[in-house]
Amino acid sequence: MLSQIYPASVTEIIQNISNLQISKQEETIETWLDLNGEKINFFLEKQTISDDGQYVTIPIKTEGSNQGERLITIRVPTNQSGILLSFDDYYPSWLDNQDLFRTNKSLATFFLSAPSRAKIANMLELQSNGHEIGFHTITHRRLTTLNIEDFDKETRIPLPSLIEQGLAISNFAYPYGANAAWMHSYLAKTYDFTRGFNKELFFYKRSDLKKGSFIVSTSIDNIFYPEKDKFEQEITKILLYIKLTDKIFPCTSHGINFEAWGITRPKLEILLTTANNFKLTTYRFKDLIKNNIN
Ligand SMILES: [Zn+2]
Repeated sequence: MLSQIYPASVTEIIQNISNLQISKQEETIETWLDLNGEKINFFLEKQTISDDGQYVTIPIKTEGSNQGERLITIRVPTNQSGILLSFDDYYPSWLDNQDLFRTNKSLATFFLSAPSRAKIANMLELQSNGHEIGFHTITHRRLTTLNIEDFDKETRIPLPSLIEQGLAISNFAYPYGANAAWMHSYLAKTYDFTRGFNKELFFYKRSDLKKGSFIVSTSIDNIFYPEKDKFEQEITKILLYIKLTDKIFPCTSHGINFEAWGITRPKLEILLTTANNFKLTTYRFKDLIKNNIN
């Protein structure tokens, strides 16, 4: 069957990719496959993904005794890999760029802060187009600095009113990612998931994300990836890594714009089309509590 999908030059099918490594040094991400102590680098520009998304063929380059270039095909175990894309605060640019999500059949979660009547009306539009709306506090303060009374006012108390206004909110993101461990279990009484924010990389197995989990999301803001080409390179490595290891990559930005804490439309397009080409799922937070095979 495989010979029909891949050229005869494919001789090697690797079932076990537990040796795939990823690391971030300064601002550069490196991925390599550790095969019997051999460090194998990927050519990132030439992957082939089978139509069912289960087989990924990549040209690899080996050094040392087994020096040379060859193709390997990796079978992806359960095909649950995906991105968990979210946007924080509130930006009218979310509304202006809906075509990008539509074209790529992608959905995202938008964590709203400082809700007003006008903002809620726009969030209802996003929601009616399939996106998820989450909550991100009333005044966007660092929750770690508040007493419990103010903490409740920012997190739990506003929820019933938002739901009454039509927003189907079930997940929460901490402003600035600032959190303390007790908050996750405390908020688990009100929200299915709580979400942090960090510039480092975090990956999750689908089966590890259970109701009540705290999920750290990686910033994909312009401030960390000012250049489009570099962003494309890095995001391709990350998405190939999650594809091959069946993991979920939570990532977050703010406006869809040129500001430091935002993502430009061309970069968002790269993220969504690459995820699409790799046949990755684009999860909303609420998708994580459904159909969890474990
Ligand atoms: Zn925020």
